Amino acid sequence: MADVYLIGAGPGDPGLLTLRAKEILETADILVYDYLANDEFLNYAKPGAEIIYVGKKGGDHTLPQDKINDLLVERAREGKTIARLKGGDPYVFGRGGEEAEELIAAGLTFEVVPGVTAGVAAPAYAGIPVTHREHTTSVCFITGHEDPTKERTGHNWDVYAKSESTLVFYMGVKNLPMIAERLISGGRDPKTPVALVRWGTRCNQESMVSTLENVADEAARRNFQAPSIIVVGSVCSLHDKLNWFEKRPLLGKGVVVTRAREQASGFADILREQGACVMQFPTISINALPDYAEVREAIGGIDSYDWVVFTSVNGVRHFWNVLESMNLDTRVLGGRKVAAIGPATAEELALRGIRADFVPDKYVAEHVVEGLIARGVGQGTKVLVPRARVAREVLPDELRKVGAEVRILPVYETGLNESGPEALVKRLEAGEVDFVTFTSSSTVENFFRLLPPDELRKHQPRVKLACIGPVTAKTLEGFGFTPDIQPEDYTIPALARALAEA
Ligand code: SAH
Repeated sequence: MADVYLIGAGPGDPGLLTLRAKEILETADILVYDYLANDEFLNYAKPGAEIIYVGKKGGDHTLPQDKINDLLVERAREGKTIARLKGGDPYVFGRGGEEAEELIAAGLTFEVVPGVTAGVAAPAYAGIPVTHREHTTSVCFITGHEDPTKERTGHNWDVYAKSESTLVFYMGVKNLPMIAERLISGGRDPKTPVALVRWGTRCNQESMVSTLENVADEAARRNFQAPSIIVVGSVCSLHDKLNWFEKRPLLGKGVVVTRAREQASGFADILREQGACVMQFPTISINALPDYAEVREAIGGIDSYDWVVFTSVNGVRHFWNVLESMNLDTRVLGGRKVAAIGPATAEELALRGIRADFVPDKYVAEHVVEGLIARGVGQGTKVLVPRARVAREVLPDELRKVGAEVRILPVYETGLNESGPEALVKRLEAGEVDFVTFTSSSTVENFFRLLPPDELRKHQPRVKLACIGPVTAKTLEGFGFTPDIQPEDYTIPALARALAEA
C-alpha cells in the first residue's frame, strides 16, 4: 500500500480509465483532482471519501503547484490514502514527476498509475494514428506552452523541423502561429498536414485538418480553442479515411434524459454510444414508503400465493430490501411461480438467484395476461403484485376478469424530483440542448412542474422534443407542444435510433 497514488484519468472518455485507477478510486480516503479529469470518476469514490478540487477553470487560478505538493504531503502524513487524479497521463506534461519527488523528500511512498495520454488518444479518436509504417518512424511529444521566442528555450526547432517525426503539441493553441512559422523556417514542408483535435475522446470533440502554411489562419478563422492537441505530420492525411468516432450520428448533440436517475443509465448508455452529450434531468424520484408493515405482513403469508408478478426493477429492489430487513432471503419465494414483466426486471431477479417462470416477449398488458393464463392463472389463482403505489391498473384488472385473486402490494412510490431547473436552464441558454426526451407521461408532467413551458418554448425550434409513444405524446400536446420525434416501436432503443435518424 502506498501513501499517495498518482493516477492518470485519461483524456475524458470515461471508458479510458484503467482498471487499476478505478480500483484505487474506490478505496482511497481522499481524492485530489484537476480540471481536465472527467468529473464522472468522482462517482467511484467510496462513501465518505473527501474530494478536493485543485484544478483551474476558465480564468480562475489553480492552486499553485507548491500548495498542491504541501497538501498531498500533509494529508498523507495523517495516514490517509490519497488518490491524486490527473488528466491523461500523470507523467506527460502533468507535473507528476515533481509531485513524486516531493513525496520522496517527505519520506512518503507513492505509486504511479499511467493513463491514456491525450496526445495519443485525441488523434486516435480523430482518425490519426501517431505512427504508421508508411508515414513515420517516430513520434515526439512537445509542449507548446513554452514561448518559442523566449531567449533560453528547451526546444530545438530545427531538429523538429528537419525530422520526419510526427510532432504532437500539448498546450499549443495560443502559440500555433509561432509553432507553424518555426517549423517552416526550419525547413519542414509548408504543405505538411496539421490536425487540431479539441476535447478529444469526449462527446464534444471537434477536429480540423489543414497544412503548416495555412493552419494558423484557419484555426483563427474557425476560432479553434484550447484544450486541443496539435498533430504535425503526414499521418494527419489519414483523418478522413480512419475517422470512426466523429461519424457517430449524435456526436456533440445535447440530449436531455428526464427519467428517474435509477432508470436512466440504460438509455444514457445507448445515447452515449451514438456520441451524444447526455444531460440527466431526472423529473421523477423513486422513494421508499414511510412504512413497510403491510409488506412484512404479506411476506409473512407469502406461502398462500401461487404467483408473484414483478412489474419493475424498482419493485424487485424494494421488495428485497424488506426481505433483508426481516433477515430473510430469496428462499421465501421457494414454492411460488415468479413472473417478470420485462427483460430488465428479469435480470434484476436473476441477480438474486431467481429465474423467472415467465417473461413476456413484449410488454403490452394483453400479452402478459395471455401468457399468465397460458401458464395456468385463472379462477381462484392467488397473485401478488409488488409494485409502485400508483401505477396503471390494466394488469390486475385483466387478471381479475379471469377470476384470479390479485393483491397489489405497494413497495415504493414515485414522486416529483426536487432538484431545481438551474443547470438545465443554463444549458438551454448556452445552446447546448438539441433534444429533450420523454419516456412516460409522468416525465412530461413533472418536467413542466420543474420548468415552465414558456421557458422551453423560448428555445424552439432549435430544441426538438422526442416522445417514446402516443400516450406520452398526447400528454406533451396537452402542454401545447408538438412532438418532433416519435419511434415506431415504443421502446428505449427505438427512441435512441429515432434521435440518431433525426
Ligand atoms: N497529462 C495530460 C496533459 C496535460 S497538459 C495528458 O497526458 O494528456 C494539458 C494539455 O493537454 C491541454 O492543453 C491539451 O493540449 C491537452 N489535452 C488534455 N486533454 C485533452 C483532450 N481531451 N483533448 C485535446 N487535448 C487535450
